[in-house]
Amino acid sequence: MTRYLKKCEECGKYGLKNTDLKCKYCGGKLVNPWPPKFSPQDKYQEYRIQYFKEEFDKKLERV
Ligand SMILES: [Zn+2]
Repeated sequence: MTRYLKKCEECGKYGLKNTDLKCKYCGGKLVNPWPPKFSPQDKYQEYRIQYFKEEFDKKLERV
């Protein structure tokens, strides 16, 4: 479930992704704590790419 984990840009606390991407502690903006180019785990990145690929395929089928 780590792909739902976001980090607050303002206070640096971690929180779960929510609809408006707002920090529950300070109301700051939640951002991805691991930008793709700094990804510490290749496995995680691979999984994410596959996830987006599946989502993309689904969208293509719908059109
Ligand atoms: Zn915050």
